[in-house]
Amino acid sequence: MMITGQQLINGQWVQGEAGQYQAVNPATAAFIEPVMSYASKAQVHQAVAAAAEAAPLYAATSLEQRAEFLELCADEIMALGDVLPERVALETGYPKARGEGERARTVNQLRLFASSIRSGEYLNIRIDTALPDRQPLPRPDLRYTNQPIGPVVVFGASNFPLAFSVAGGDTAAALAAGCPVIVKGHNSHPGTCELVAQALHKAVQKAGLPAGVFSLIMGSGREVGSELVVAPEVKAVGFTGSLAGGMALFQLANNRPEPIPVFAEMGSVNPVVLLPEALEQNAETIATGFVGSLTLGVGQFCVNPGVAVAIHSPALDRFCAAASAALAKVPAGVMLNEGIAAAYQKGTAHLSEQAGVELVGSGEAVGDKAGFCTQAKLFKVTAEAFLANPHLQEEVFGHVSVLVSCVDEAQLLAVVRTLKGQLTGTLQATAAELATQAELISVLRQKVGRLVVNNFPTGVEVCDAMMHGGPFPAATDARFTSVGTASIARFVRPICFQNYPAELLPPELQNANPWALPRLVNGVKTSAAVEA
Ligand code: NAP
Repeated sequence: MMITGQQLINGQWVQGEAGQYQAVNPATAAFIEPVMSYASKAQVHQAVAAAAEAAPLYAATSLEQRAEFLELCADEIMALGDVLPERVALETGYPKARGEGERARTVNQLRLFASSIRSGEYLNIRIDTALPDRQPLPRPDLRYTNQPIGPVVVFGASNFPLAFSVAGGDTAAALAAGCPVIVKGHNSHPGTCELVAQALHKAVQKAGLPAGVFSLIMGSGREVGSELVVAPEVKAVGFTGSLAGGMALFQLANNRPEPIPVFAEMGSVNPVVLLPEALEQNAETIATGFVGSLTLGVGQFCVNPGVAVAIHSPALDRFCAAASAALAKVPAGVMLNEGIAAAYQKGTAHLSEQAGVELVGSGEAVGDKAGFCTQAKLFKVTAEAFLANPHLQEEVFGHVSVLVSCVDEAQLLAVVRTLKGQLTGTLQATAAELATQAELISVLRQKVGRLVVNNFPTGVEVCDAMMHGGPFPAATDARFTSVGTASIARFVRPICFQNYPAELLPPELQNANPWALPRLVNGVKTSAAVEA
């Protein structure tokens, strides 16, 4: 498999017209071959025009055709072989095993979407047959289904070079929904992007789909990323990354003559609330689990636990001692790129300078390690200082967390009340505490997309029941998940056919129910045909 540094536009591999660059190995800070290219705005418009042309043809494919295409995408990614996890390791600093694990997650995600759309559940089909004799007014025949929203732009995330990048969750959901996808690849891992795009290109060809169903554009976010979002043919955007980036794109999309949804997942500090009885019983085990979650993948997860909240006690001192001991064994970690490492250094330095903040423990020092290496840290602050300083709630991306020490239960509740919207909230609690903390749980429920009990937030399962999103600023739309099969809902829109000729209805709405899908017919869930 050759990496050429080209863009995939309308089924053609072409040299980008807006300059050249090279990826950097974050473990060594050395450039990686080959030279890559940046797309021009004119090339963005070629990709968008191709997607718009492909959209009606792709929307007209059957669920089975699309499911087979997603499975082909998975097969072609696997067929890339070892070159893929090796390139991931080179471009991200992640161990090869992480690349292999993420590849498995990515192909399983594609296959899960395939089986999910075969079930037709996401179409949410509703049929209310005509009641011509109803008094005082007859009811017309009404049939509701979901249809693809149109071309979708996906911004690949830096921290998931496979599972949230070119063929990641957003792409899988949009393709499953029947939407052509244009990926704006992340410049941190351009070779990885190209390899995966080669696999998807093959899958498009093998499935006999129009070339515009999938394109890959590389380039600067402010240039090609913005151009993609304002292109009139684009109908929705999926994004994972920083608050600043997500909000810039959200505002661009809202200022278009035709505003479109931007589903931006922008991360959070994922509070972990440590209740007293649980700490008393298990301070050391909780501390070890917490540090494991905090330092996994050098803390480069959107669900990384960036804040812990607890009531001051001897048990909390035991937690701090155990966390500090566990942290001391954590090696300095290579971060994804120079910018992310620099933001981490700046963010941790800023945290340490805030009034009332003290260091509880650190990982192994960076020493003379090459590349973009950083040291894990755990800080502590009084609740009083935390409540007085909104900066302490800001996400510092990486393996750092702030423990907020409260004087009593009321102050702990006050801290939780001030938290902004979050992807996750975690409770370490005994059964008795869970049963008696109704107010705390109700406040936390208002803040988060996923409420975790006696686990840690890292490890986002890709499944039907996952919710990965949350109230702003965790995401731009708290009603949707960006992980799991429910995420397909972002890329469809409902349409109702009224009094429509039976023989012209889409298959899922026809009386005979040729795809044998579950449907709500006159208020009853059934897969049976509708009697004409
Ligand atoms: P990012 O800076 O938000 O970039 C993500 C993507 O959006 C990139 O393709 C970027 O293009 C583009 N972009 C950024 N700002 C843009 C703008 N104003 N207009 C148009 N496009 C724009 O995220 P990142 O590079 O992954 O990491 C930087 C920071 O993001 C981290 O330090 C961390 O704070 C946060 N982050 C959060 C998560 C999460 O899961 N929530 C994940 C990763 C990172 P360019 O590369 O050309 O700028």
